[in-house]
Amino acid sequence: MFGEQREFKIGRLQSGGIITNYYCTSACGHCLYYCSPRWKKEYIDRDTLIKILKKITSFGCRSVHIGGGEPFLNPAGLKMVLETIRSLEVNIEYVETNSSWFKEKESAIDSLSLLKERGLATLLVSMSPFHNEYIPFYKVKGVIEACREVNINVFPWISEFYPEIAAFDDRTTHPVSEYEEKYGDNYLSMIPRRYWIHLGGRALKTFSRVYGTRSYQDTLAANKGGCRELLDVSHFHFDLYGNYIPGLCSGLAIPCDHVGTALSEKEYPFLSTLFREGIGGFGDLAASNYGFKPSREYLSKCDLCFEIRKYLVVQVGVSSRELQPEGFYEND
Ligand code: SF4
Ligand code: SF4
Repeated sequence: MFGEQREFKIGRLQSGGIITNYYCTSACGHCLYYCSPRWKKEYIDRDTLIKILKKITSFGCRSVHIGGGEPFLNPAGLKMVLETIRSLEVNIEYVETNSSWFKEKESAIDSLSLLKERGLATLLVSMSPFHNEYIPFYKVKGVIEACREVNINVFPWISEFYPEIAAFDDRTTHPVSEYEEKYGDNYLSMIPRRYWIHLGGRALKTFSRVYGTRSYQDTLAANKGGCRELLDVSHFHFDLYGNYIPGLCSGLAIPCDHVGTALSEKEYPFLSTLFREGIGGFGDLAASNYGFKPSREYLSKCDLCFEIRKYLVVQVGVSSRELQPEGFYEND
């Protein structure tokens, strides 16, 4: 689909979301953005949000979803986000939540009512064995019940897991190992066949445990050619720092102002190399300019890409607009 484009430019935007914060109560094993309680408690501000919304709408895109991290951890911030989006006449598709904020039904109804007044019509309620490692299921059930009371649509992501999670004590959390004990040793390895999980971020580490890995040379040999995934705009994201995340390549960034312009190799050496030459070129660049040496086997080219980028940021101390946010590399 992207094979013909020669210059590296995000020339259109299709459907996407805004990451309001990276801090989260959980540290799920499949989290693409490496969210966790270790991140700074930073939340998107109004000016950055307006800048992002203007950029998105300039491409004719008029609806967004809101996610994190956990957007509900800053109720005032979330209200501001909804009000601002609505004031610019952009549609809010849904807000995502992990339900960790739930205490009891009445206060949940109050919180949701305030958000509904500001445009929250659909809540994506996360439910998976990964979430259940950190969040007791009674909280998820409580949020769903509160949504019903105040007439907010629930988008369960994904409902297929509901009976499996509900089979455990809902007052407490359960590690994935309990799911493996109950539902079979291959439970974890089968999850990506049951619903869409992008194997990036923390999912790389989690699934390296159950899928095969390859040597550096074999990883390069199996992945020749540029990373056209960087041009994918079908599920794009901007974050609270005003960064556009190309494709689903978390930890890579293009500042909002540069979305829509051709990115030069001089200003964007890492992204340009990945786009033109793929992981092979990126590995060569990291080895010759920064002394990178592969230290293990890799699940995929993205696993190797992450290790190289982490090496650049954490070991070498490279500070680059392309390798953002730095917390992604520091909080893994
Ligand atoms: S997947 Fe969601 S709930 Fe889990 S750590 Fe990431 S942002 Fe938090
Ligand atoms: S190797 Fe890197 S740039 Fe290429 S698709 Fe994977 S994460 Fe994205």
